[in-house]
Order: sequence, then C-alpha cells, then structure tokens
Amino acid sequence: MRCSRAIVSFVFVLFVLFVPGEARQGKRVFISVDLEGISGVNADDQTAAGQPEYARARKLMAEDANAAIRGAFEGGATDVLVNDSHGSQRNLLPEDLDPRARLISHSFKRHGMMEGLDDSFDAVIFVGYHAKADAPRGLFAHTGSGVVRDLQINGRSVGEGGMNAALAVYYGVPVVTVSGDDGAIAEGKESVPGVRGVAVKRAINTRAVELKPLAAARREIQEGVREGVAGARKTAPQRGPVKVQLQYRNFTFPEVATAFREIELVAPDTVAFTRDSMPEAYRLIRVLYRFINPD
Ligand SMILES: [Zn+2]
Repeated sequence: MRCSRAIVSFVFVLFVLFVPGEARQGKRVFISVDLEGISGVNADDQTAAGQPEYARARKLMAEDANAAIRGAFEGGATDVLVNDSHGSQRNLLPEDLDPRARLISHSFKRHGMMEGLDDSFDAVIFVGYHAKADAPRGLFAHTGSGVVRDLQINGRSVGEGGMNAALAVYYGVPVVTVSGDDGAIAEGKESVPGVRGVAVKRAINTRAVELKPLAAARREIQEGVREGVAGARKTAPQRGPVKVQLQYRNFTFPEVATAFREIELVAPDTVAFTRDSMPEAYRLIRVLYRFINPD
C-alpha cells in the first residue's frame, strides 16, 4: 500500500516536471471587441454614447463578447482578457460581462484595439469586426477613424483586422476566430489564412444589412471560438522592420504628420514611414489617425 502510494507520488512529480506549461496551465486568450460587427447592430445611432440606441448596442456587444468568452473557456482557456476596442473603448460594462473574464477599458492606450496582448497569450479572437475604409460593401466600413482612406502595411492594404493581426504575428500568437459582417470575415481570411470566420450579418451595402437571428449568431460565435482556441498553435514571433503608408481623406492631417521624425509626405494626402518593429509602427499609426487635431 505504502509502495503504491510512493509510485503515485513519483508519477505525479514526473507529470508536473515534464508536461509542458501550456497543458498544465491551460490557455491564455485575448479577445478584442469592436461594435460595428456585433450581432443585431444595424444603425449608426447605436455607435456612440448619447445616441438613442447606444444603450441597446452596448448590451448586444456584451452578449457577443460573452459568447466568445464561453467558447474560449470551453476550448481550454483558463485566463481570458477582453479589450474594449470601439470608439471611447468604454462600451462594455463590467457588470454585463462573464465574471470569469478580465476587462481593459478606455481608449487612451498605446496599442488601442490590441492593448494587453503580449507573447504570453495562446490565441487572439476578434469579435464585432467590420470591413476596411472604402470597402464597397461592408457595414460602417472604415479604418481606425473617419480620416483614413487607406492603410498599407508592408505594401498590403489592410483594415483594422489586418493591422491588429500584424501585431499578433509579431508576438507569435495566432488569430484563430473573427466575427462580424461578411465583409469583415472576407478581409479576415485574406489577412489570416485559415482563420475561422463567423458572419453574424450580411452587408447589403455600407448601411443596410441582413441580421442573423441573435441566438444563432451567439451560438456560432461560441462554437467558432471554442474550435479556434482548442486548435490554437503558437508560431515563431515575426520581428523585423515595418513599412507603413497612410492615405488620408484630407491634406491637413498629413501636413501635421510630417512633424514626426522620418515621416515622409509621398503625396499631398499620403505619408510613409518605416519603424523597427510592429508595436512601434502600431503606436505611431494610432497617433496619426486619432490624436492629430489640426483645427
Ligand atoms: Zn472598428
């Protein structure tokens, strides 16, 4: 009896010593939640505080976030970090969120929609995403803010999903599932081959939309995230310089932008620059579309 107990203890010690950390501790999952691609969101009087439909929209946002959180835990997560990623980034109310998840709130942060991500995570999820600026079909299509006409990273035109995926790639953390309108899903698949897409609505144009029934949409998010997290495999971090080209819808922002070191005006409405890493480039892109005020 004493002998078999010793064997059990020995096997346990071996298990603790040799089973990789991931299997022992479970997965860490990062969820970035935007608003325009949330199930049920269908009009622009839902997208900012003070608008008549905003209170409803932030509840809908929490419901999609909760579906993703449930899926993440079912897929093997033991730690889930949610980053509010829309506008003021103060849309999600902690009391509406699944109590197992932590929440990052407020837009005054260096890495915006990706604040909090680092190489300790195992999977990234995008919830409520939308198509990039000037996409002909895509509900509320835009990139970052209304002033951006096009953003290119290393020569490829990207939206918010593509820009955020580039930061995840830097850390070697795979983006495994994206939810949003069908335009956002198509772009997500372009930026991240193999990503699971959950289309919760079909964009008829940039304003009209066909909504999937809410219960079905949330079920599909939960399932898509569960599968994505369960199958998540980290990749080698991709470091190296990043070349950015940012085209504006006006001439005032680029004029101010050239005040920054080594930012070049390559056309009256377009600036270009190179930075040593994606986090550095990300921070500057964010300043260039969000924190310039030429008035
Ligand atoms: Zn957005």
